[in-house]
Amino acid sequence: MTSRPPTARAAALQIIRTLHDAGHTALLAGGCVRDMLMQRRPVDFDVATGATPPQVIGLFRRTQKVGVQFGVVIVGVGPHWIEVATFRSDFDYTDGRRPSGVQFSDPQHDAARRDFTINGMFFDPLKREVIDYVGGQRDIRSRLIRAIGDPQQRFAEDHLRMLRAVRFAARLGFAMDDATRAAIVRHAGSIARVSPERICDELGRILQHSSRALGWREANVVGLLPYLWRGADRLVEHAPLIESRLAALGNSSISLELALAAVLLPLPVGDIRHACVALRTSNHTRADVTWLCQNAPRLTEPDALTLADLKLLMAGRRFDELMKLTAADLKARRANPAPHRRLERRARAIPTDEIAPPPLLTGDHLHAMHIPQGPNYKTILEQAYVAQLNGELHTPAEARALAVRMMDELKSAPAPRRNR
Ligand code: ATP
Ligand code: MG
Repeated sequence: MTSRPPTARAAALQIIRTLHDAGHTALLAGGCVRDMLMQRRPVDFDVATGATPPQVIGLFRRTQKVGVQFGVVIVGVGPHWIEVATFRSDFDYTDGRRPSGVQFSDPQHDAARRDFTINGMFFDPLKREVIDYVGGQRDIRSRLIRAIGDPQQRFAEDHLRMLRAVRFAARLGFAMDDATRAAIVRHAGSIARVSPERICDELGRILQHSSRALGWREANVVGLLPYLWRGADRLVEHAPLIESRLAALGNSSISLELALAAVLLPLPVGDIRHACVALRTSNHTRADVTWLCQNAPRLTEPDALTLADLKLLMAGRRFDELMKLTAADLKARRANPAPHRRLERRARAIPTDEIAPPPLLTGDHLHAMHIPQGPNYKTILEQAYVAQLNGELHTPAEARALAVRMMDELKSAPAPRRNR
């Protein structure tokens, strides 16, 4: 009989039982408790325990010691890696980003260092008991995001929490408690001091999720938007249209690239690149976001696209997302969707093997035809390929004939004037 691998939940429970049998308190903690209480499927199951990292490491065969200085050990059970964190209190935050150190403590102190009441609860799976020192259950019932403790102080400690508040409010459809919201409005500018990587990660989570439009609006309303990266303030005047575009992207989750493109679309290309650099996205992401933004306007006038233009776009790795982006943009602007639908039908009618066929004319052909290498080479190859994609060339012989014609034309054309 083959046994099935444990679920993440079962893996976390197994860890809790092992810790418990060794005499340690061990509980499910944070987001998974919130999600269970809300009848949502948790993304991951985190364990909090009274055992110190060396004790945790001693009890399990497979561990990763990535965050031991913060009391975090990752424990492997079957295919799952579960975060096991020692109950702790954070020392003073001196830089608005991370505590200067941690002290191991008890569940009550551990709850107090967490960000929002809904994220500050524990669940004891052995006793089937919710442990709530912070009023998380009450706030779930009232559908409120409320900072644990004094919100001014909590956002001054770690500025990223402001963006996390926006994310949880949007994702869960909760309102923000008044004092929590007022503290964010007051501290919004200090989000600029958080590392771009953390901001980009959090912004990505907000924008990729189906609640993206709400998250975007909330980030703007509380005043975080202009400070997310240097230059983000240029988006404020476009915020309502961006919100409609984000909403029009629909209910499924989307890639970071499509999400960023939907936001950055109104900016000039230099600013789009700059935003990606400022947010420290990968080069790959930056190239794709730029490609999406640069080509989206071409698809809103689709009847102007030649067959070759369309095929070259379809050969791009994010063509489907480009179509989604333009459809959403047209919807947001309440523009006529008919031309875009026509384009969709045109694209669908193109057989896959005709999108990016191997070129009929290559550098080898030009070489064999004794056409000297030089600036004309690339022009000839590109134009021959465009002609091929447009269905004007069908055989290598036709392609070579075109090359000869083009060489003659290029030779007889007047040489470009050089600037002295
Ligand atoms: P998700 O379901 O999106 O993963 P989550 O609540 O699990 O949400 P995580 O970022 O995975 O959020 O963090 C796990 C828990 O750690 C949170 O529930 C919260 O208790 C705590 N936490 C995370 N980040 C912070 C922070 N910046 N400040 C205080 N507590 C935090
Ligand atoms: Mg989580």
